[in-house]
Amino acid sequence: MDVIYRYDPFAPLVPREVTDTESALARLLGGNQRFGELVGRLQERTMGRGSDEPLVIPMCPVAWGLPLFQGQVLSQTPFAAILACSDARVPTETIFDQWFNDLFVLRLAGNVLGAECLGSLHYAIKHLAESLELVVVLGHSNCGAVQAAVSTYLSPTNFADIAYTYSLRSLIDQIQIAVRGSAHALHEEGGSRIRTDEKYQELLTATAVYVNAAVSALELRRELTERKARQPVVFGVYDFGTLSVKALPGAVGSATNLAAFLGAAPANPDELSAYAREVARAVLRMNE
Ligand SMILES: [Zn+2]
Repeated sequence: MDVIYRYDPFAPLVPREVTDTESALARLLGGNQRFGELVGRLQERTMGRGSDEPLVIPMCPVAWGLPLFQGQVLSQTPFAAILACSDARVPTETIFDQWFNDLFVLRLAGNVLGAECLGSLHYAIKHLAESLELVVVLGHSNCGAVQAAVSTYLSPTNFADIAYTYSLRSLIDQIQIAVRGSAHALHEEGGSRIRTDEKYQELLTATAVYVNAAVSALELRRELTERKARQPVVFGVYDFGTLSVKALPGAVGSATNLAAFLGAAPANPDELSAYAREVARAVLRMNE
């Protein structure tokens, strides 16, 4: 099966059309769906199924955020700022099928919100305000940083290795609040017997990945509200199993349900707690 990039220099130029939050969300959703379909199609072929017709991907420098002519330098005009994890399996532009000049990306292990990271986002909000329509926090399933935080929560003896390095410790400490909140939510939704479930560590990690993204989103929303930024903060989790981004475990986003793809950041601690319980319910339901 051939995958072909095709450029027709005489075809009409198609500029990026993102004019508001909704079109920014729709563009990210469309890109994530294209990415999932492409990988799905390749995996089908691996199994000898599906069509082996060539897959042609139209290519246009303007639509890809590249200069049309040699020597041109474009100004920076991302439509979304994204705080994501450094995990090598989650390249931000690729999973949203976006190209040059589309996304202002910050990647830190566990997608935690540090001071320098916040400074970069403030820069984007201030200097790229015209094109920027959205701020996104993106977690992912099986996140190593969240797994480490869960492990130190459940087995404090493991803390010695992490305590050795201040920088690593501060990273794990930042995720602890999400882990504790997730443990509480699982207890509320699943009863006290949940802690003795043989899959408890797995359930706690699955819940904490979502809650951790929500914690960063809540903090970021508060920061941006104080600065009177017009861009809303949304969040979600990239799931390795389905290659899709979702606001809740098992949710399926669509053009008519963008909130299932990336949800609005909690406005206050009560909304965060309610969200943690919703995630715990979904995780427990999927484990039945
Ligand atoms: Zn990660």
